[in-house]
Amino acid sequence: MKLSNKLVEDVVVAVAGEDVLPLVKLLKNKKNVSEFKIAESLKLEINVVRNMLYRLYHANLVSFIRRKDKKKGWYIYYWTFKLKQIKHLTMSLKKERIERLKDRLARENESSFFICSNSCMRLDFEQAVGFEFKCPECASIMQQESNEETKKKLEAEIKELEKELE
Ligand SMILES: [Zn+2]
Repeated sequence: MKLSNKLVEDVVVAVAGEDVLPLVKLLKNKKNVSEFKIAESLKLEINVVRNMLYRLYHANLVSFIRRKDKKKGWYIYYWTFKLKQIKHLTMSLKKERIERLKDRLARENESSFFICSNSCMRLDFEQAVGFEFKCPECASIMQQESNEETKKKLEAEIKELEKELE
């Protein structure tokens, strides 16, 4: 797996939010960057920066060391981005996605689906029975929809993701 910038960004956004991207850009290819330096470079309040760092830390994407500032007597935290962790996270995000797709496929296999001719709604059999096969939005009669295409698409996507995991 190649760790392109795009991949790194996608994973970071997925696990820690889009607002941390400038911070990650700043930390990448560096080591032990002081949180005060980060705040200064990004022109952000230290608390905002710490909040971002904690989110990244929670996703195991940064590590820190702390050193006592001799003059002021308090601790300063120095942060390092764990690029290697991206690969691991990519795998687990893919695995989660596969699980979700499999659940979805199971639901598609278990039920039949009904759609409104005005495309307001798609209901499964039980829901459609509950509304007596009338669209709850516009009251037109709902028609059974073939979900073969949907199932094929889901299966193809699962297969593709499983191949990527090998
Ligand atoms: Zn409708």
